[in-house]
Amino acid sequence: MVKKMYAELGISEEVLSFAEETEKTLTEQYRNFDHTAEYNQLKVLSAMQKNKVSEECFGSTTGYGYNDYGRETLEKVYADTFHTEACLVRPQIACGTHALAIALFGNLRPGDEILSPVGKPYDTLEEVIGIRPSRGSLAEYGVTYRQVELKKDGSFDYEGIKEALNPRTKLVEIQRSRGYLTRPSFSVAQIGELIKFIKGIRPDVICMVDNCYGEFVDVIEPSDVGADMIVGSLIKNPGGGLAPIGGYIAGTKECIENSASRMTCPGLGSEVGATLGVNRSFYQGFFLAPTVTAAALKGAVFASALYERLGFPVTPGSREQRNDIIQAVTLGAPEKLISFCKGIQAGAPVDSYVDPEPWDMPGYDSQVIMAAGAFIQGASIELSADGPMKPPYNVYFQGGLTFPHARYGILKSLQRLVDDGHVKLS
Ligand SMILES: *Cc1c(COP(=O)(O)O)cnc(C)c1O
Repeated sequence: MVKKMYAELGISEEVLSFAEETEKTLTEQYRNFDHTAEYNQLKVLSAMQKNKVSEECFGSTTGYGYNDYGRETLEKVYADTFHTEACLVRPQIACGTHALAIALFGNLRPGDEILSPVGKPYDTLEEVIGIRPSRGSLAEYGVTYRQVELKKDGSFDYEGIKEALNPRTKLVEIQRSRGYLTRPSFSVAQIGELIKFIKGIRPDVICMVDNCYGEFVDVIEPSDVGADMIVGSLIKNPGGGLAPIGGYIAGTKECIENSASRMTCPGLGSEVGATLGVNRSFYQGFFLAPTVTAAALKGAVFASALYERLGFPVTPGSREQRNDIIQAVTLGAPEKLISFCKGIQAGAPVDSYVDPEPWDMPGYDSQVIMAAGAFIQGASIELSADGPMKPPYNVYFQGGLTFPHARYGILKSLQRLVDDGHVKLS
């Protein structure tokens, strides 16, 4: 019966059987993702029970948003899940970059220095920090920046980090996910070692982790291994696909209070900020986040195995450990990148009938093609793919609210490559 449905939805028997054959090797990995989700589900559930989440929490405030019981309880639920003293979870945080900017501006003062010990940070942070000159950057406020490259094999350059730490170093920014670079993503354990090393030299330095795309991929988070602050976006993993906006900053009371005075303003801090009706989606999304993340991980490993078998370079490989939900496939030709993205788009629940085209996106040095048929604009926990139109024509693929949907989208991408004559299965 399911074969008939696939046929009706445009997947040939040839593509389906190729995929099923490939998938036989993935059973154990799928099971591991389910185990992680099981543990994380209990972790979230336990935090919800401990904080007595009730119907009252789903209420809403307007105006100043004083005494928003739902907001205050949700922040405790996040803090208990991530094992931190405090947390901000707010619809006023516009996106991941904004959350990171709040955490940085809130905790840094003129004359301080930021250190990135893992090479270049995420693209959008370049303007926040002022690596690329930008209006209102930290650089304009007299905060300096230093970075230490990773070693050739992708490991931390401990010697270089030791040298870069100086009396002005106030905060270390560690990005867990590779983002859209080719460097490896880091496991929570690796991040823990790095923090331990840094704190061994400078116990007072703030260790902040950009946790975007990493939440619930492991059974521990960077806050379990010494991070003073972890930061992320609610239209990625922890929003579970239901949060319509938002970001979070979880960490020590000191770091969170500093962040709060920047999020709103000095004196008001975390006391204001109406929730305008989003509380229920924030709770429900966080509750679903562990299994949604597992669905995205299964989709990523499925895509990895499929394209690996077809001879395309993939990062990570289908057997490698995963530290985030992103999958990169090197397609090697512009037509292939376009076909891949058109396939993903055609498999979406929203806007499946439109064809994505490469366009000149602000801030990029080449055209970019993006496939996203999402319920929430730009939500990358939903099935999405994008790639810069330049060699080696990498596509970055992530998300999927359910595994059957992620799987279908990937089948569609392959079908499109086959139909357009770019891939031969036999
Ligand atoms: C997505 C992402 C960000 C920025 O998030 P936006 O919501 O796009 O602003 C920052 N860092 C990493 C590693 C990310 O993946």
